[in-house]
Amino acid sequence: MLCYIHVPFCTRKCAYCAFASQVPRAGDMQAYVDALLQEIAIQGDRLGRRTISTLYFGGGTPSLLPAKVVEVVFRRLRRAFRIAPDAEITLEANPESVTAHHLHDLVSLGVNRVSIGLQAMDDESLGLLGRCHTARQGLAAAHNARMAGVQNLSLDLIWGRPGQRLKTWLDELRQVVSLRPEHLSCYSLTVEPGTPLETLCLARTLALPDEEEQGKMFVYGSEYLEGEGYLHYEISNFARLGFQSRHNTGYWEGRDYLGLGPSAVSTLEGRRWANPETLAAWVEAVRTDTLGQDAEPLTLEQRLTELVMLRLRTSRGLNLRGYRRLAGVSFTQQHAAKIQALSRRELIRIHGGYLRLSREGWLVADAILTNLITDG
Ligand code: SF4
Repeated sequence: MLCYIHVPFCTRKCAYCAFASQVPRAGDMQAYVDALLQEIAIQGDRLGRRTISTLYFGGGTPSLLPAKVVEVVFRRLRRAFRIAPDAEITLEANPESVTAHHLHDLVSLGVNRVSIGLQAMDDESLGLLGRCHTARQGLAAAHNARMAGVQNLSLDLIWGRPGQRLKTWLDELRQVVSLRPEHLSCYSLTVEPGTPLETLCLARTLALPDEEEQGKMFVYGSEYLEGEGYLHYEISNFARLGFQSRHNTGYWEGRDYLGLGPSAVSTLEGRRWANPETLAAWVEAVRTDTLGQDAEPLTLEQRLTELVMLRLRTSRGLNLRGYRRLAGVSFTQQHAAKIQALSRRELIRIHGGYLRLSREGWLVADAILTNLITDG
């Protein structure tokens, strides 16, 4: 089982952020930790000491958790579950809230993978995104992670930012590659409804690069990273051989996962539930032991849709025999005309029993996937 712990606190809210996170007020951290420990105990009782194969502290900004708190959480997790000896244990960190000392403490506790949100390598872009760290702090954080003994380092970047061009993106990638991370996540900037970024874009104060420029950034960025020895193993993720994220790969492969903390989603044995979004509502649900009461079985249609949506974002692609086993019909026969048209345009390939999107296909993945799943 995969286990995800959502830490809902951030130093400040970024301009593009639509995640469940808030700046903590007095007492929030304590309320969160108390409820989290209780939720772990409740789920441990319900699930009967299942084995956690990967553990992921995401957020929010998990690096805001003091090492002492992480230690207590580990202790409670070990009491309630079994953590596999070779478990991948990831903690997301933001540059303003990590020091070599803090990271060293986290590594001593068992964290063996750190994912740092650099997002951009110049201060102007970081300011525009509303990040609360400088590029220099980002570099220092990566350096600190190595000093602390982190041997599996992932760095996050955002591309397709206002004012960004292909050349600046490739320069940025060169700079990040020189830090020799084992893993890179490169997400395209999405303008989420209700964010300050959306307001600026609607007022035409800011504009994202046009589609053609974004297409070049995706294709040439991917080619550059592959040339540097990174496998482009999922639409937004690159890794040196053997360093693909086991946790995220588990999601894409449809494994069971338990989500703890506000807004976290769980899917176990074909049933899914989502924790309340806000800290107060989640604390109350833990207190009254009502979490997961609205768990619903996934329908066959949901499972097939997720299978296609998630697998086609990976370089491995969709196992056609696996699909047929679940659906009772052949995917390629069901979608013969569309698949033919997409193959002619070299957007998809079928090889060795797998259907994959090409790099150009990934560029328009949303359109292809919507098209494939909305209509037989
Ligand atoms: S650090 Fe991440 S979760 Fe926190 S506000 Fe920024 S984008 Fe949102």
